[in-house]
Amino acid sequence: MALIEYKKKRKFTETSEPQGGKSKKGALIFTVQKHAASHLHYDFRLEMEGVLKSWAVPKGPSLNPDDKRLAMMVEDHPYDYKDFEGHIPKGNYGAGNVIVWDRGTYHALDSDGKDEKTLLSGLHKGHISFILDGQKLKGEFALVKIKGSKQENAWLLIKKDDQYASKKDVTKDERSVLTKVTLDTLAEKYGTGKEDDKEIKKKKQTSTISKGAVRKTVSTKPPSKKKSVS
Ligand code: MN
Repeated sequence: MALIEYKKKRKFTETSEPQGGKSKKGALIFTVQKHAASHLHYDFRLEMEGVLKSWAVPKGPSLNPDDKRLAMMVEDHPYDYKDFEGHIPKGNYGAGNVIVWDRGTYHALDSDGKDEKTLLSGLHKGHISFILDGQKLKGEFALVKIKGSKQENAWLLIKKDDQYASKKDVTKDERSVLTKVTLDTLAEKYGTGKEDDKEIKKKKQTSTISKGAVRKTVSTKPPSKKKSVS
């Protein structure tokens, strides 16, 4: 997977988002990043074929099987994106702040140990059933492609009824599972990445939130006129 679309959208001289990364042997991983960009959303990512298959979920995941959460499939992200947390400077694709809202391992339902085969065939068919073992999300979920939708990339993220199903709003837990920070904390530190952001003080540019997560902070370049939608 060349991650062509991913790389095309980003200026790696400005953003500290990862460019690659090799998946580890062992259990497949998933991650959910909460991303305050032009619109707040959750990025739901499943490792397949060494990259992260990705869906943007505007309302975020739910543990209630009655909820069907719209999930727009977006470009594959590199494996190392799983740990990305921090600031994307304004003028860049997805400008704003990102936290790792949940992460863990996952496997296909009824997989017989051939996880990736089952998952990839599900991806192709437009129906993936899987079990998450995260810190906030656990149990069986499905991603189902909306057939006959005008938007080719529209899917639904649905919790299946099991011991982990709950009417409790899991998105109320706003903290990063990596560092315990919230998006509000990052916005105070780095700004929101929006065009009308106030200038951020120089001293704040050197602060980091976690080792290796934010190598670079705010760009001093003027923002480009292009509006980013992510
Ligand atoms: Mn995003």
